[in-house]
Amino acid sequence: MSVNRYRLCLLSLASLLLAPLAQAAGENQALTIGTGSVTGVYYPAGGAICRLVNKEQPQHRIRCSIVSTPGSIYNLQQLRDGRLAVAVVQSDTQYLAFQGLDGFAETGPFDKLRSLFSLHPESLTLVVRQDGGIRTLADLPGKRLDIGNPGSGDRSSMAALMQAQGWDSSAFSLLASLPAAERARALCDGKIDAFAYMVGHPSGTLKEASSSCNIRLLPVAGPAVDSLLQAHPYFSPVRIPAGLYRGADEEVATFGVQATLVTSADLPDEQAYQLVKSVFDNFGQFKRLHPAFALLKKETLLTQGLSAPLHPGALRYYREVGLLPSDEPSPPPVDTTEKTRR
Ligand code: GLU
Repeated sequence: MSVNRYRLCLLSLASLLLAPLAQAAGENQALTIGTGSVTGVYYPAGGAICRLVNKEQPQHRIRCSIVSTPGSIYNLQQLRDGRLAVAVVQSDTQYLAFQGLDGFAETGPFDKLRSLFSLHPESLTLVVRQDGGIRTLADLPGKRLDIGNPGSGDRSSMAALMQAQGWDSSAFSLLASLPAAERARALCDGKIDAFAYMVGHPSGTLKEASSSCNIRLLPVAGPAVDSLLQAHPYFSPVRIPAGLYRGADEEVATFGVQATLVTSADLPDEQAYQLVKSVFDNFGQFKRLHPAFALLKKETLLTQGLSAPLHPGALRYYREVGLLPSDEPSPPPVDTTEKTRR
């Protein structure tokens, strides 16, 4: 077990043991949101959510904090194991976890996974150096490609793209697994020729790369990508806008997902309700907390990319403010018996 994971375990154990005491004394209850790399968008997104939740802390007594993590897959595993209360995850990985597919086949469906709302769109972003001789996807085989660290959603979405393209690890001279915070430097130092990142824009990693060397964003398109999108409706065609990064002056076609905020059915209804209320009651402010949120609309955040049922606490808020009709079906009851397949 890594030191960070060990710390997280101790922290969650401590909060589990202390929660009833804190409640009895009218003290704060800790709520930790698992995010991603500090150079991604999940981390500042989690920070924006906690900022709004903590503004109301004197009323609801919830103390929200964020933790940087390896990304979506790790977050879903931690949520399932009760080591995280809330997490930001890619909508494709939310679907795979809820259904128990791909990387989640061994543990089976995560029945208790619950949605709160979706966040910003994310695009599969393939970054190369302008002098690297890579102009299209077809130029990638034979090169040194970073597909993302274990536990990241980047790696999971890249696995889908690689399968669609008919590439395995032998197609590349190196398949690297660097954390998002190290990819820009590795590219600009010439240690890798390309990296992949499923991320919202603008993001710290892309800003770092574009200010350290001359980069190009690779279009992710072609017949294999078309069939991938057809086979998996959780992927959709998207465009990375021009002008966000130095050297990336043209819009680039690729595919993407939604970042989503998820939790487990074990999160108390009141905590889910207060978290959602803090964000939606202060939506204008929320949108100004990160440029990737600028175009968000309340209505679409309740539907886009959410395959797990809404948490009952979130549902209560959405009904209360009329964002959902009061006859919206409630999530199915949770089977709390220990799963034999786990
Ligand atoms: N989509 C990435 C992942 O799931 C994280 C992106 C971010 O941190 O903004 O691992």
